[in-house]
Amino acid sequence: MKDVTRDREDRKQQRTSTEGALFFKAGKSSTYGNCWQRKCKKFLLIVILLCAVFLDGITASAPGRQAEAAVVGGGQKLGYAPLLCSGGFDYLQQERNMKLNLGEEVSLAVPGEKVLFCKSSKKKVVSVSKKGTIHALKAGKAKITVKSELGGETTTKRYHIKVSKFGMVYPVFTMMKGEHLDLQCNKENIHIKWSSANPSVAKVSKSGKVIAKRKGKAVLVGKSKNGKRYCCRLKVKKRVQNVIYLTFDDGPNRYSTTKILDILKKNHVKATFFELKPAQKDFDLTKRVIDEGHTLALHGYQHKYDIIYQSEKSYHENLDKLRDLFFAKYGVWCIVSRFPGGSSNMVSKYNPGIMTKLTAKLHSWGYHYFDWNVDSCDAGGASSSRETYSNFCASLRKGRGNVVLMHDFANNDKTINALEKMIQYGKKNGYTFLPITASTDEVHHPVNN
Ligand SMILES: [Zn+2]
Repeated sequence: MKDVTRDREDRKQQRTSTEGALFFKAGKSSTYGNCWQRKCKKFLLIVILLCAVFLDGITASAPGRQAEAAVVGGGQKLGYAPLLCSGGFDYLQQERNMKLNLGEEVSLAVPGEKVLFCKSSKKKVVSVSKKGTIHALKAGKAKITVKSELGGETTTKRYHIKVSKFGMVYPVFTMMKGEHLDLQCNKENIHIKWSSANPSVAKVSKSGKVIAKRKGKAVLVGKSKNGKRYCCRLKVKKRVQNVIYLTFDDGPNRYSTTKILDILKKNHVKATFFELKPAQKDFDLTKRVIDEGHTLALHGYQHKYDIIYQSEKSYHENLDKLRDLFFAKYGVWCIVSRFPGGSSNMVSKYNPGIMTKLTAKLHSWGYHYFDWNVDSCDAGGASSSRETYSNFCASLRKGRGNVVLMHDFANNDKTINALEKMIQYGKKNGYTFLPITASTDEVHHPVNN
């Protein structure tokens, strides 16, 4: 109750400043003659500025404002600007800055306040609800306009929101029935306790392990230790039975990546790229992979078997280094990975047992790994694009996720020239092409070392 009273008193003060502005506006346009106006223009401007500074000082120090700032999660005040409207009660437009973590959810209304209107300038960055709750979906900036009523008085506020790339990685997510997802933060010091508002659609453990139970929508709500509220808006789709996940290893490079991306684009297919550290001149290719909706996944900072499989530490670093580079460069948090040589590789034999240790530890480091169950043999066995194509067709199986191994290294015409035909074959035979996501069922080989 106390806060509401403060807020009303506060608004009275704000109205005083707005009425002053209205008076000057009317004077300038009608009451005074042109000659007087010219002579006194500078004087009037100075008076307006002084009034604004003085009244702003009063309103800024009002306790109600501070209380409200606390309600909206520590938003910083930018200042108050009079809104020169003709009639009605919407006297004031307030401007303020607010920083949000990725995935954070905040209510812009104080207790007792009725939100009449709430609009976001960029819905993909910050979404809004009718009740004035905003949700940070993507790193970037957005302006939020909220019109609300409290005690019969209407106020319009404008928030300049900056969403950080740090926070909870999945503010909105789609998964298929039966899939699992580990909710993750890309900032180490955020510990969130999760619960599901719709457990019959998706269950979540306190630590953020989600299981999709049935088709529908679910809201997963999380609270961090410092009182921030996080949210994951989840859509569970029915399970697609016959899926093809096209995957490309070892890119990017200017010859193949561009051609592969062109073919995928032309055929409206999304795929997964297990990349190495791009050459300095090729970072734009990785950006294109992301921009065109494919999954950017990790193969490793480098590919040299004798270095990466030397120890658990060196493999862990090989993944972290590339993940951190991509995050710094593109703001994309990659968790999907593939072992160079696959988890069944024998090239790591120089370090006995290393693959057994790595495959057991990878999840605890926040990564998933994918081998393949369809090998195009474009890196060895296949001698032509015709063979790559027939290897692909022969290994597809209905009723499972077919993870297809292909390569995105330079001059790989064996794949480039077969790719469109593969897509056509898959579509004709009832397969759906999907990119691998954080909730895709992993495909693993038996470990040999
Ligand atoms: Zn490779």
